[in-house]
Amino acid sequence: MAQARLASCVPLPVDHKTLVNVIEKAKDWALMHGVGMRDRKQFSKDAIQIAPFVLLPSPFPRTEFNKAVELQPILNELMHKVAHDDEFLQHTLQNALQVDEFTANLYDIWVKVRDEGISQSTSLGLFRSDYLLQQPQQNRIKQVEFNTIASSFGAITTYLPCMSRYILRQLGHGDLIKHMPENRALSGLCGGIIEAYDMYGVPSAVVLFVVEEVSYNICDQRFHEFEISEKRPDIQIFRKTLNEIYEETDLNDKKQLVLDGRPVAVVYYRSGYEPAQYPSQREWDARLRVERSNAIKCPSIHYQLAGTKKVQQALAAPGVLEKFMGPGGATSRVRDIFAGLYSLDFDENGERAVEMALADAERFVLKPQREGGGNNIYGPEIRDALTRMRHSRERAAYILMERILPPLVQGYVVRPGAPVPPPISDLVSELGIFGVIIGSKEKILHNKQVGHMLRTKLADANEGGVAAGLGALDSPYLLDL
Ligand code: ADP
Ligand code: MG
Repeated sequence: MAQARLASCVPLPVDHKTLVNVIEKAKDWALMHGVGMRDRKQFSKDAIQIAPFVLLPSPFPRTEFNKAVELQPILNELMHKVAHDDEFLQHTLQNALQVDEFTANLYDIWVKVRDEGISQSTSLGLFRSDYLLQQPQQNRIKQVEFNTIASSFGAITTYLPCMSRYILRQLGHGDLIKHMPENRALSGLCGGIIEAYDMYGVPSAVVLFVVEEVSYNICDQRFHEFEISEKRPDIQIFRKTLNEIYEETDLNDKKQLVLDGRPVAVVYYRSGYEPAQYPSQREWDARLRVERSNAIKCPSIHYQLAGTKKVQQALAAPGVLEKFMGPGGATSRVRDIFAGLYSLDFDENGERAVEMALADAERFVLKPQREGGGNNIYGPEIRDALTRMRHSRERAAYILMERILPPLVQGYVVRPGAPVPPPISDLVSELGIFGVIIGSKEKILHNKQVGHMLRTKLADANEGGVAAGLGALDSPYLLDL
């Protein structure tokens, strides 16, 4: 089927001279406002380069945007309940745990901490639910995944509408600005961290960001730090790797995580979501120490487990949403955003899913229990992978998902080091909605939607991770279809 198109917000192409001129302005705007990342090839702490961005805001249907915004608190609550249902997590993950060492290590920490007695019942979630428009279904949103750990780009994309507005004005289209929604993701996300800090209630306490050995996406992370510092000069923030946490922290007899002689109130993970971030036992020991402590974790480990692909698939099975949400209208609204999701367990349903995928691999995406991009399997490789794994237990660590076919949009992607002007390309956009939740099993104290991000990739790329170098930062231009 030919992919449908959404019209770009201004007629394209933009003439060559104007385009070159406006891209130069846009790049400087980006650099001077932190729409940047560190250079992977020539890493230097003294420099950032522009993050890839889309020159003009990409169209997104207003009704679907609003739907995603309205659903966010409902999804936050759903994932909170899932995370606190020990039996459901155990049952859902049991087969994957036998073959996926990474998920098993996380799960073992969760069981250990639970058996010892949980010293901090309150969790902080800075979530992001991601969507593509499903073009054969009148461009309805379908959920790609729900991120419960290190949901990124809330900060940079807060500044992007401002950049898009500047560009539209330069191109003489300032009248279009009214179609761009406000984005306050950064302040909302940081508000969550501050709220959790205050709940911890120890004035001398600090906030700890868990970071990678090398942070390429430094702007996005630092903006959180700057925002918190601006709003609350009394809160001191440390950035530490898991290895540094192993070296530099202790648990005291009150179960406080002590860093530099001060208790840690909130631990915010921007690392710790993929195996490479745990190169040795030290990192796992550090993770266990943090989870044992009474610091408020963002996320606590059961939130991270609730964010696995296997849980996403289990939620789509008959009756499961009803179990968590009851039979009401909200349940059918959530079901409506689910794409087809299939278990690959060794049972009748799993066999049927394998057959389905082998017969028509292009219709699906094969996903392991991983985060961070670049792990999924597409097209003919699905057939190879399933043929190889068909009789191996490894299969149960994957899920099969219906491939979402989004509409195409034309646009210009500006990349560091690439020739100017770039060609007009066919693009597709993925919307992310940010949510903040704070609560314990018994009580949800805060739950809200706080902002959005749009990430756009070349239409023929399977994945569009910006940090992975495939996607580009964007902002939505709302269409009244
Ligand atoms: P990760 O945790 O690695 O980010 P995702 O489930 O978000 O995993 O998949 C990564 C990317 O792959 C998405 O951002 C999207 O571009 C693409 N993708 C994932 N699932 C689908 C799908 N069902 N249909 C089309 N594209 C998908
Ligand atoms: Mg993703």
